Order: sequence, then C-alpha cells, then structure tokens
Amino acid sequence: MEELRRLFRSAADHAADYRRSLPERPVGLPTDHEAVAEAFAGPLPAAPTPAERVLADLLAAAESGLVASAGPRYFGFVVGGALPAATAADMLAVGWDQNAFNAVLSPAAVAAEAAAGGWLKELLGIPPSASAGFVTGGQAANTAGLAAARHQVLADAGWDVERRGLLGAPPIRVVAGTERHGTIDRSLRLLGLGLDVVEPVPAGPNGAIDLGALRDVLRAGAPGPTIVCLQAGNVNTGACDALREAGELVHRHGGWVHVDGAFGLWAAASPATRHLVDGLELADSWACDGHKWLNLPYDTAFAFCARPEAHAAAMSYTAAYLVGSGGAPVGADLTAESSRRARGFAVWAGLRELGRDGVAALVDRCCALARRFAEGLTAAGFEVVNDVVLNQVLVGFGDDARTERVVAAVQADGTCWMGGTTWRGRRLMRISVSNATTTGADVDRSVAAITRLAA
Ligand SMILES: *Cc1c(COP(=O)(O)O)cnc(C)c1O
Repeated sequence: MEELRRLFRSAADHAADYRRSLPERPVGLPTDHEAVAEAFAGPLPAAPTPAERVLADLLAAAESGLVASAGPRYFGFVVGGALPAATAADMLAVGWDQNAFNAVLSPAAVAAEAAAGGWLKELLGIPPSASAGFVTGGQAANTAGLAAARHQVLADAGWDVERRGLLGAPPIRVVAGTERHGTIDRSLRLLGLGLDVVEPVPAGPNGAIDLGALRDVLRAGAPGPTIVCLQAGNVNTGACDALREAGELVHRHGGWVHVDGAFGLWAAASPATRHLVDGLELADSWACDGHKWLNLPYDTAFAFCARPEAHAAAMSYTAAYLVGSGGAPVGADLTAESSRRARGFAVWAGLRELGRDGVAALVDRCCALARRFAEGLTAAGFEVVNDVVLNQVLVGFGDDARTERVVAAVQADGTCWMGGTTWRGRRLMRISVSNATTTGADVDRSVAAITRLAA
C-alpha cells in the first residue's frame, strides 16, 4: 500500500511541478518528433516492469514532447488551461476508476453529472428541462445533437430512423453556414447524411451567418424534414450567429435548430457578452465544450437537447443484462459511448471552484485581453482584420508570405504560440485568448515578442 501511495504522490508531484513551470517554460518550441518517438519506441516488453520504473521511464520519454498548451501564453487553436480543483477531481476520477455508464455502475458519477448539468444550463441560459450529455468534445456534442435532430425531424415525418435507417427515408434538408466548423461535416458523414446534402448559407462581414441569405435558402427548398446548423463563436473571428432571428426564422419553417457553441456559447455566462448569443434558448440542441474556454481538463464537453426523449431515442441502447436502464436518461443514454470516463467530477469541481461570478470574470478577462492584443498589435503597425467581439483576434503582417514568416518566427521563438489560418482568402495569424491564467503582462510580453520578430 505504501508503494501505491508513493507512486500516486510521485505522479501528482510531477504534475504540480510541471504546472508551476508553465509561466516561464518556452511555449511551443519546435520539437524533435523523431527523438520523442524513439524515446517511446522499442519492442513490446516480455516481462513485467515495476510501476515506479514505468513512471520514471514515462516522465523521461514524454518530457521533450510536451506542449505548454495549458500555460498562460499559448494562444493557438482554441485551447484553455485546466483549473486546479477540476484537475485534482479528474485525478480522483482516475484513482476511483469509476465507470459513468449509469447509476448502478457509479451513483456518484451520475449524481455529479446531474448536478453539474443543471449548473451548466443555468449558466448558459439553456432551458432547465433540457437533457445534458457529458461527451468527449465539441465533435461528439455536434454528433449527439444532430443525431437527436435526425431522429425528431424524421419522426415528425412518420419515419423511425433508429429502426429503419436512412435507406428509403424522406429526404432531410441540412442548412448550414459556410463558416461552420469542420466537425459539423464529420458529424453529418457519421450520421449517414453526407456532405452533399448541405445547403450552404454565406456569412456576413465578421463571419456570422447572413440572415437574408438564410431566409432565401429556407424559402428556396421544399418544406419537409429540415435541420439548420447555427454557430456561436466563429473559430476565426469569434462572431456569433444572430440566434434569436435565425432561430425564429427556422422554426417558422418547421426546422430543427442546432447550435454549435463549442466555445462561443460561454458568452452567455457574462452580462457583458450575453447579448452576443441572445435567443440561444430558442434552439433545439446545443454543443458546448468544457475543455476550451471553461478551462476543464480533456476530454469534456456537453450535448444539450431541448427534447430529452429525442436525445435518448437517438443515443441510448438497452440490453437484458443492463440493470438500471429504462428510467430517465442518464450517463450513457445521452452519449455515443457505453463505458465512460467519469468526467462529471471535474465539471462539478471546476464550476464550484469558479462559481457564477468566476465564470463571468473568466469570459470578461479573456475578451479584455483579446482587445488588448488587438490594440497593442494595431499600435505596433499591424493589421487586425476582424471585429474583436469575443476572444479571437486575426492579424495580418502584410502579404501572405510575410504573415507566414512572422507566424513561423513566433512559433520558433518560444515566448508565446499562435497559429496561422486562412480567412477570406488571406493568410493570417490567429490568436485565441482562452486560458484562465493569462494576464495583461502575458499579452504585453507576447505583443513585444511579435513586434520584435516581425521587425
Ligand atoms: C473546437 C470546436 C469544435 C470541436 O470541438 P472539439 O472539442 O475539438 O471536439 C466544434 N465547433 C467549434 C465552433 C469549435 O470551436
């Protein structure tokens, strides 16, 4: 027993030391991928290895291949950190080794999901009667939401898609913005709807869906089973679709509204940004990440559905040996997994750690720091291309080739890390401020580094 305690303590100590090193650790320096691969490679061991030795070897092998993406000056993709209590709760989830399949396998895991699910709906302004599936990411949340949509629009047309599949089913219209996230497309592929079904709707100047164009697209097609994918939080610009107007429009056409709000839905949690997602409660399903802007550990996201019975009809399964199934949908009834990680503990802990005010402050702080980036880089003579409404900033440094060189130089420098993107035909630097530990000093230091490297 003492050995186990030493082993767990050692892992926790290393994790804490690593976290402590993040503010001053080089961010995203180029890694020798071959050296990392070699450190892990080797023949399958024939004989057992003592656990302590395994941990020591893992630490040595991984060290040079870790990315300080949990640190305060990582601005790539849309990546958050991981809050202390949430991380510790996740360690316990692994230590307890709970299976969140249902309340027979883990009453605590299911209870944590139920409580945290209620808090999440309250924070986001999603109706309390909605179901909340705890899934692995925005991708899985989009798939669950669109599966519920597929179920309901076909049920309304008299077709049981779970039983009969899509062969011979009434055709489904899928209307989605051209600026939708790539995971929407993968969900449509997985659900058998395919990509060709999408009727694209162009976006306005800042990347939110063009309402007039949405109206025209809806009118142009025949009525019938219709799913419309809206977005809160464009990955390039942060722009949110006008959810109230779009939602009302789609409902007048009898369609199902799915909102991909992987990070942008968190605008709802602050009085200062709430107006950006006004009307979100009109939607029928919502996808939202926990591991991005809420700063929960991977892998944590939420699939909410205003029609819990549609959600469960699309995702649940049952079998004779499965005691505990058949009641109100919980755990695996709302996700694509059967056995599941107990991610509810980390969500519950993270929300308690922040509280309502802390979540709002996190959103406000990241938005203010994004504006600070925009002001600093504009003052330095660079071009901020988007209207910075949320936590995303797009920057041009001249022509595409020059912007590419600046992005590459910043990535090689190690002060901070941001990626490149193509938006409206231009190569740009993309900055996402999503980490709970980022400060104004981090932004100023990053702006100074970018300015120095661009020169
Ligand atoms: C990140 C993101 C996704 C995918 O989320 P994962 O957690 O990576 O699966 C989907 N939609 C939007 C708008 C996103 O930003």
